[in-house]
Amino acid sequence: MSEHRPAPAQLAWDAAGLPYSAQFDDVYFSRSGGLTETQQVFIEGNDLNARFAALKDGQTLVIGETGFGTGLNFLCAWQLFEQLAPKGARLHFISAEKYPLSRADLTRALALWPSLKHFSDQLLANWRGIYSGFQRLVLGGGRVLLDLLLGDAATSFAQLDAQVDAWFLDGFTPAKNPLLWSEALFAQIARLSCKQATFATFTSAGTVRRGLQAAGFAVHKVQGFAGKREMLRGHLAKTAPMVWQPPWFARPPQVAGREVLVIGAGLAGCASAASLAARGYAVTLLERHGQIAAEGSGNPQGVLYFRPSPHDTPMSQWLLSGFGFCLRQLQLLPRGRDWDACGLLQLPLRSKDAVQQALLAEAFSHSGLLKAVSREEAEALAGVKLASGGLFYPDGAWVRPQALCRALIYSPLIELKLHQEALHLARTASGLWQVRSGNKLLGEAPLLVLANATEAKRFTQTALLPLKPIRGQLTTVEQTEASAALKTVLCGEGYISPALRGVHSLGASFNFKRSDLEPSFSEQQENLERLREISPDLLARLNLSSSAGRLKNRVALRCTSPDYLPLIGPLADFAEFARAYAPLSKNANKRLSEPCPWLDGLYVNCAHGARGLASTLLAGELLAAWINAEPLPVPRSVANACHPNRFALRRLIRGES
Ligand code: SAM
Repeated sequence: MSEHRPAPAQLAWDAAGLPYSAQFDDVYFSRSGGLTETQQVFIEGNDLNARFAALKDGQTLVIGETGFGTGLNFLCAWQLFEQLAPKGARLHFISAEKYPLSRADLTRALALWPSLKHFSDQLLANWRGIYSGFQRLVLGGGRVLLDLLLGDAATSFAQLDAQVDAWFLDGFTPAKNPLLWSEALFAQIARLSCKQATFATFTSAGTVRRGLQAAGFAVHKVQGFAGKREMLRGHLAKTAPMVWQPPWFARPPQVAGREVLVIGAGLAGCASAASLAARGYAVTLLERHGQIAAEGSGNPQGVLYFRPSPHDTPMSQWLLSGFGFCLRQLQLLPRGRDWDACGLLQLPLRSKDAVQQALLAEAFSHSGLLKAVSREEAEALAGVKLASGGLFYPDGAWVRPQALCRALIYSPLIELKLHQEALHLARTASGLWQVRSGNKLLGEAPLLVLANATEAKRFTQTALLPLKPIRGQLTTVEQTEASAALKTVLCGEGYISPALRGVHSLGASFNFKRSDLEPSFSEQQENLERLREISPDLLARLNLSSSAGRLKNRVALRCTSPDYLPLIGPLADFAEFARAYAPLSKNANKRLSEPCPWLDGLYVNCAHGARGLASTLLAGELLAAWINAEPLPVPRSVANACHPNRFALRRLIRGES
């Protein structure tokens, strides 16, 4: 796996101020003119002028690229899309890059193209959290998606679930960069191609021509760019052989209507509404309280953070993509008021934590996600005394979840309805979902998303979802002059954040035994004890003995699943599911092909546990990708690990239903 991990680009600049790769000893774009090269090789090679102009409202063109480099190809495609495509069309650009440019290098490279400034400024503003794995950037006011697959292209594409319309094959020259022109990669490109997919490349190397032909492409030689004799263009002529896919994780049929009901206006519901509205769906958001973000998303200050694993577990991959995505979306909120990227220190409290931290530093320090810091460095970052050094996450942040929720649903396509408690779901003969509260009809639509945490299992259709609440108590404490020195979030078993409006947040307890919302003294003491473990100095600065009245508490219930991964995606009829896949209880590896008995139009987005900020915004995108039949924003294995059907499947295999 480590071979696959990205590493920083080793960029050098030639006498003319153009970037080239010191590692590959090759140029990023032609010295005879990067813009014209992109235009002639990739844009014309894929006939994009005509294809963008032919797009209709609601349609998306998907471009795949090998080698994002400086983003020049992407920016040119985006500029042309803006010029030619109708306002309701979308561009989805998916590019693999193993050696991403630093912000400084990207800024310098893009300054070469003043005509692209409008677009490159937006790309640069979003060039954060470019760690590893899949990272989604939302650009162009929401109608352009850029999925960067950070890592080796063949490995990344093998995990991608997408249908690509046009390919830009733009590795360094094949002799110097053979991995980006390998048979394995061409096979993935063919697998990911839709029926009419085209490709274009600057090279005419025989290995590339033969490799693409062997993968199923018809290949033509045309006049090359700037003195090069030839280059290649073509289209998919033979579709790749179908391989068996588990039907319980297959794409559900697309529902015709564009109206959606979303139940629950916490982070998961607001993010679902935002992602769907960005795609033109008309959303009605039903909330049982008199305000949004009133339950698990209602703490005054949340922390954007997660604990990665050095082993690329599905959880770690999911949260790494989600953390980066949230960080980029937060740029839309006023910094200092609604959030702040103040950084976060994770302190090792037990000896095994130190071993784990060393592994993480080795696995992730190249990506910019975290770095190991000594005690002196940690204290300088934190502004208070600490017992040890630890890991510093420069992009760790505090956020006001309510402000984020409000910003997410700020759209003319989202209607918020408060005081609406959904108690029953029913399906009409014409296939609409009805949400009822007793005899009162709260709403009716072809699509319904359950984003109401543990309450998502209260309906007859969903009663088997294994959701459970975990009580968490947050303690807030007024800052003192001495505690105002705290500059970063500090994490041990719990966390403490720099003060927001004069108040620090400390939290949050995990209590598996109680599910009431009454604050408890013992959980408050637990939070203070965790603070003492993190920094006795900070505890002393808070001078709590002077007035215990400065402490306040808020209890909320987190929704979790048995494997602690969220549930995001379509729901099936559980009884029919058990019947259709009963043979799995005798042979778990049986390749069944019975279509999944979906509850057409019914989706869920919940169980984000204590990781709401890192998880929910990307969950909105994953949900929208399922609903709108789009490329998935995470590896297929990760989407499957978050799939609601996984529990029904496990029950069957264990012989439980
Ligand atoms: N399309 C780019 C642009 O518009 O600026 C230029 C691409 S440059 C010629 C080739 C790119 O491929 C480099 O950014 C390089 O880091 C990347 N690359 C090389 N080997 C790779 C691999 N195995 N997987 C993914 N990317 C790779």
